[in-house]
Amino acid sequence: MEKTRLGKTDMLVSRMGFGGIPIQRLTEDEAVNVVKRCLDLGITFIDTANAYTTSEERIGKAISGRREGLVIATKSLSRKREGVEKHLKLSLERLNVEYIDLYQFHGISDFNSLDMVLDPSGPMAVVEKAKEIGLVKHIGITSHQIDIAKKAVVSGRFETIMFPFNFVTSEAADELLPLAREHDVGFIVMKPLAGGMIDNAEIAFKYLLQFTDIVTIAGIEKVPEIEEITQILEGPSAMTAAELKEMQKLKQELGTRFCHRCDYCQPCQEGILISTVMMYPSLVRRLPPEHLVSGIWGAIVEKAASCTQCGECEERCPYHLPIRDMLAEYANQYQRSKSEHQKLESSA
Ligand code: SF4
Ligand code: SF4
Repeated sequence: MEKTRLGKTDMLVSRMGFGGIPIQRLTEDEAVNVVKRCLDLGITFIDTANAYTTSEERIGKAISGRREGLVIATKSLSRKREGVEKHLKLSLERLNVEYIDLYQFHGISDFNSLDMVLDPSGPMAVVEKAKEIGLVKHIGITSHQIDIAKKAVVSGRFETIMFPFNFVTSEAADELLPLAREHDVGFIVMKPLAGGMIDNAEIAFKYLLQFTDIVTIAGIEKVPEIEEITQILEGPSAMTAAELKEMQKLKQELGTRFCHRCDYCQPCQEGILISTVMMYPSLVRRLPPEHLVSGIWGAIVEKAASCTQCGECEERCPYHLPIRDMLAEYANQYQRSKSEHQKLESSA
């Protein structure tokens, strides 16, 4: 598989990387087999996170004996020194590796969180120390918020930035990617399929292939998925006229319901975490049903039912999303799935 240089880390990695979220849904054997198949097909960049439950451990089993030549990236959601210390130690154990190639601060979506991470006695100090003693090779950050991502890139403290990028939400192409190039910060793409909203993988990946200096993380759950992606990568990268037309059509259709997770719609007087609820269709695809129903995600989606329809969030949303309708739709879908899950549990 073709490789690209990941900015100032100077690491050469496969242009397609493995995203470790969906394997949480599988049995351990299935998960290990999917990762191994990805390695067989030439993927050398593997991304996971402390927050992805079983993902790190399963990846650790799959890469056992094949570590050399791989770039392993993981991340911590903690904004505290002790939290990051604990997560880093756990990641090394679960992945069963002596070092992590890229350690990222996960989901930094407001300036306060960025300041907390960069506090001289906070999380960054922990990871920089780990870098000094060889437990971490490089330091990166992930964000969904363009202003935070831009500030992180110019700060000079991060070697990579991970940001959502696909043909529906392509704002990264205008300023963030050029800025990352200017500062030699490696650009890692999350959500190439817009969190599952784009179902035409060929068009989605061909769109991204035009940018030869980015690494795209695809969440892979089944072996045929990575085989299909590999075929796309090996085929002609230019889109046909029909594909370009289809891309424009999809962009128009999906753009009206795609949440950029910018949180400009906040605050909600009812305390509804709107951008998290908007992830519901993607959560359904990615999480095991029992995690969705019993965990924190389910509680967040359930709360959407308390929306009073005040409409203030819609006035603030720069993308004019029909937030109230979408929240109601997802809250209803969640209630139906929860009832079905409970019925199955009680009949088991
Ligand atoms: S319309 Fe609903 S979600 Fe939006 S701010 Fe009002 S209560 Fe919150
Ligand atoms: S609903 Fe609109 S304002 Fe709120 S996070 Fe999504 S895109 Fe941003």
